[in-house]
Amino acid sequence: MSAHAEWALVCRLFSTGTPVMRMRLSESEAALLPGLTKAVKPASINANIVPCPYCGMAGGEVRRGRDGCLECCCVECGPVSVDPDDLTAFALDDQWLHRKLRAALDIDSDGGSTMLTAGAWMLGSSGKTPVVLTRDIPRLWREAGLLDRVRIANGPVRVIAPTRQISAGVPTDAGVEWLALEERFRLRGEVVSFLAPPGAAITRRKNDPAAPVHGPFSGDFRLVYLDGEDNPPIRCTKAQSEVFRALWEFGGHDRRAEDVRRRTGRSTTKPIDLFKAHPEPKRAYEALVVTNQKEGLYRMPCAVR
Ligand SMILES: [Zn+2]
Repeated sequence: MSAHAEWALVCRLFSTGTPVMRMRLSESEAALLPGLTKAVKPASINANIVPCPYCGMAGGEVRRGRDGCLECCCVECGPVSVDPDDLTAFALDDQWLHRKLRAALDIDSDGGSTMLTAGAWMLGSSGKTPVVLTRDIPRLWREAGLLDRVRIANGPVRVIAPTRQISAGVPTDAGVEWLALEERFRLRGEVVSFLAPPGAAITRRKNDPAAPVHGPFSGDFRLVYLDGEDNPPIRCTKAQSEVFRALWEFGGHDRRAEDVRRRTGRSTTKPIDLFKAHPEPKRAYEALVVTNQKEGLYRMPCAVR
């Protein structure tokens, strides 16, 4: 059986969040169940109304027929006998998924996961970055402050969520790194692994002056390696590298333009002015620096230590 199809079913059951009746699974999905006994467990649901096994269209009430067998009273077809196996439901063992994701992201598994709200859990911290799993991004957003509860010193939070919800549109400036469950993880046998963005796996010698040693920056802050890019690093001017160094040294905290100016000794009004004429460094600046224009504050989330 294809591991890809198994992972797709796990993700589908996670997104649904409730037990799914066997008859609602496709033939090929049902065929995956024997290989997924640790992840997907039979569950009981109160099935009063089921889709008619004959026409598949109308729904009908389930009752015991005169012969003692189950039948569905379809409004179109009348009583149709139902295979009790079809009424079995299956649900994802959420704890299984949490354990696998924690292992995939090297999250210390002491303490396990904690529920933040319905359909959202704090899985723990990967390095210094809190990791949240949710099947309901809108809810995460509605309940203001939910993410701030796990955020460390205004740093970024990694949020794992179904791909469809992320592609439906999520705030990109909210200090959140979005990880699409279906795409960024893979199931092989018993192991779920994290697919790091291309380029991240490149290992460099520590004494290579071009190596990223301050987060995405080289030792002199002249080279920037953007996440998820396999391209050569972006080369910055000396002035630009000074801005990055200053923001890096502020450790991800909000600072005013004036603080950056004082640190770099350059007299530009706004840090971005030094980048405007250089498309690639400007792209790096925009990817790494969070600007609060109203308050005139700047911070670089990747600098949180
Ligand atoms: Zn029918």
